[in-house]
Amino acid sequence: MKKCLQLIALASLVLMNNAFALFIPGVGEFVEVITAEQISKRAEELGSQIDQDYSDCQDPIIFICTLNGALFFTADLMKNVKHSSILETIRVSSYHGGLETSGTVKLKYDSLEGKSLEGKHVIVTEDIVDTGLTLQFIHSYLQSKNPASIRYASLVVKKDCQGANTPETTYVGFERSKEFLIGCGLDYQEEYRNLPGVWALETPIAND
Ligand code: IMP
Repeated sequence: MKKCLQLIALASLVLMNNAFALFIPGVGEFVEVITAEQISKRAEELGSQIDQDYSDCQDPIIFICTLNGALFFTADLMKNVKHSSILETIRVSSYHGGLETSGTVKLKYDSLEGKSLEGKHVIVTEDIVDTGLTLQFIHSYLQSKNPASIRYASLVVKKDCQGANTPETTYVGFERSKEFLIGCGLDYQEEYRNLPGVWALETPIAND
């Protein structure tokens, strides 16, 4: 009887695993690699770290969220920061919805227009740092506005993928290798941002 129950448990586990794989037609099969629980725990840790790092700072921290991808991570992070904070947004494009960066970054929108960043402390939030081109672009754009400091926070950083001129990401949610990810703000052709966890493309469909 015990053996029989063990077998049933094993079978349902296999079935459960199948159910948790996400298949996107034309792209391939994704598996969850970071759960929603892990993200909220990490956001708590990073929020405390930010509070510690800015404990001597009298001014509000200006969070600049890169739309649309960093919306979810920025909300999670900012809710865990006790220091007075202001939310601004910026939109740049580099991926154009595919699986690879286009290699050129363009500024599409910016809520800072007409506002001064002079002498302010800025934290830019990203969903993911891949080649680092987007961060390089945002860095030189914001530097021209003379803030007192600029730091970067990202839900995910792809390990060893960034060019030499990429500014350091001080607040890293999770490090991953070079792979395509969706969920928690990360999209494929604008879809799947609303998945609570992060999913990696494990079995791509071969394109002949
Ligand atoms: P980078 O300029 O190469 O660092 O790429 C940054 C931007 O590309 C991110 O803000 C995302 O919008 C997009 N991106 C990079 N890697 C992925 C991924 O694995 N999934 C979805 N979007 C990605």
